[in-house]
Amino acid sequence: MNTSREYSRVLDQHDSLNNFRKEFYVSTDKIYLDGNSLGLLSKRSEKSVLTILDSWKTLAIDGWTEGKHPWFYLSEKIGNQFASLLGGKPEELIATGSTTTNLHQLLASFYKPKGKKTKILADELNFPSDIYAIKSQLLLKGYLPDEHLVQVKSKDGHFLETKDIITAMTEDIAVIILPSVLYRSGQILDMQKITQVAHERGIVVGFDLCHSIGSIPHELSKWGVDFAFWCTYKHLNGGPGSVGGIYVNEKHLGQEPGLSGWFSSAKEKQFDLEHELTPAKTAGAYQIGTPHVLSIAPLTGSLELFHEAGINAIRKKSLQLTDYLIELVENELTDYPFEITSPRDHVSRGGHIYLIHQHAASICKALKASGIIPDFRSPNGIRLAPVALYNTFEEVWRTVHTLKKIMEEERYKKFENTRGVIA
Ligand SMILES: *Cc1c(COP(=O)(O)O)cnc(C)c1O
Repeated sequence: MNTSREYSRVLDQHDSLNNFRKEFYVSTDKIYLDGNSLGLLSKRSEKSVLTILDSWKTLAIDGWTEGKHPWFYLSEKIGNQFASLLGGKPEELIATGSTTTNLHQLLASFYKPKGKKTKILADELNFPSDIYAIKSQLLLKGYLPDEHLVQVKSKDGHFLETKDIITAMTEDIAVIILPSVLYRSGQILDMQKITQVAHERGIVVGFDLCHSIGSIPHELSKWGVDFAFWCTYKHLNGGPGSVGGIYVNEKHLGQEPGLSGWFSSAKEKQFDLEHELTPAKTAGAYQIGTPHVLSIAPLTGSLELFHEAGINAIRKKSLQLTDYLIELVENELTDYPFEITSPRDHVSRGGHIYLIHQHAASICKALKASGIIPDFRSPNGIRLAPVALYNTFEEVWRTVHTLKKIMEEERYKKFENTRGVIA
């Protein structure tokens, strides 16, 4: 391969998405590779927050039904805009809650232990919040998590095998909760196959899309996924604590949710204020209370960028960036014991790369001191996410070369090999 810096610039010149970088607040003296933990602020998002703030300022209570983005319909409107990113129908989608609260809502709605089918199947690599939520839902139904939560094992601590997941789909499983993309290795699970086999065995299946929405295309409706949930502050750049989302397959719509509130109502009935709930016939039924309008606001701007760029173009560039990163690591860092624990094949590689090294914590601190923002994951992982909408090939080149210098000069030894409060 051509490992010169000039070549990285050529790649940037040929990048069809290179115009989008100027839509973001990108720091000129830093290289931000943490967009899968917290995406950068775009100018569109900033503008959309100000627009909604202004509707509060000028319209007060009438902001619910007037202005550019009437707040009463905003969750549905943003929900519709998730459709092209997820391959879902507008009525199957809603902006609401957070990843964890949405998982609670969906388990309260879809985990209905009956007869032999009483267990929940998850995996041992998923993010802890999902596991905590599953355990509390089991306890609420009177089951012990030790007996009723089954976690598919990973052979190597990084990846899951579809056949192991399928083997674990025994007749006592009621619901499966799995991530679309594993938050460490970045492996994409075969959502289509998992859904197909789960349904053959009478199991309901839901996916956590935190690390895939905005990074890879999905076909939720085509695959027949029962439900999904996600946050919007990672690849979707919705800002800290921005409102998440729920997908519910149309075959399940029209039912009362497990956790109801007045925002679960059919919109035209909500202000009848009756004590008998008429649930919305859309995924809107999975809302509970008043939407967090100011935390939805950034999404009206940032989702515009995704529609202008198109998720397929984003995916194409993302794979080029991670291919380039892998190749440079393999060419430049051969003298140091870095292990790339992300899939090489495109089909199962998500939007980030995971490097392991026993001094990962101090190497991440040395990178930060050099203006490169990675993500450390305890105990020994360096997560690097070159994001298609705002990172460049030259930044990837500079990252690998900075990493090489840090290793050559042993600069990481100046830092303690422990994590900070947030890592
Ligand atoms: C980021 C992430 C979360 C975070 O949950 P919140 O409720 O948004 O704090 C949960 N699960 C996974 C897999 C994640 O990647």
